Amino acid sequence: MPHNSSPESDTLHRRGLMFILSSPSGAGKTTLSRMLLASDEEISLSVSATTRPPREGEIDGKDYHFVSDEEFDRLVEEDGFYEWAHVFGRRYGTPKGHIREGLKRGQDYLFDIDWQGTQQLYQKDQQDTVSVFILPPSLDELHRRLTARALDSEEVVNSRMERARAEISHWAEYDYVVINDDVDECFTKVREILHAERMKRTRQTGLIPFVRELMG
Ligand code: 5GP
Repeated sequence: MPHNSSPESDTLHRRGLMFILSSPSGAGKTTLSRMLLASDEEISLSVSATTRPPREGEIDGKDYHFVSDEEFDRLVEEDGFYEWAHVFGRRYGTPKGHIREGLKRGQDYLFDIDWQGTQQLYQKDQQDTVSVFILPPSLDELHRRLTARALDSEEVVNSRMERARAEISHWAEYDYVVINDDVDECFTKVREILHAERMKRTRQTGLIPFVRELMG
């Protein structure tokens, strides 16, 4: 629930923010996203559309909107995406949908997108965007995690490692960087970033009555 409808709503009003978590696949971003969504009711997931087929256990409309190439083309033509990109030969995009309206109400959105999507979001709306890059402790550890989860063939693991190197080369474009050595510690840091960003003075759209009086 957006915080503007909480009991403090007569003292503070703020715009929502778009909170981006990016990392090479295997660095723990999915786990961190789940932890954040489960523990914080002011933020909800921005569900992307993709042309890739669902993996086992994935639910249409919850994990992704799984769409055909033709449907994706149509959305691009209608300017229905905040941003979109090619990843692993498939297309992924953020439907604009209700995000703009939600931000006005103080709703925060979590984005699980790569560096290309991050750059596009910054171009569209720099003020509402906060980006965090999650790094693995080392490339060896990343390789170990990708192999251990045994979801993909060796060929896919190698291509994900290749992509991880490319992804990491963009870390300097992010606002924050956190190393995921211990997932609980990493989560605490990510949450601290979110909490601090919410209090940023420039996000406050309403003045507390006594501050308004002081300002004349
Ligand atoms: P996966 O297929 O493993 O779920 O995701 C592959 C990659 O696509 C991930 O790195 C993820 O961050 C990226 N991705 C997912 N959704 C979007 C999106 O809406 N836009 C962009 N640019 N990348 C996305």
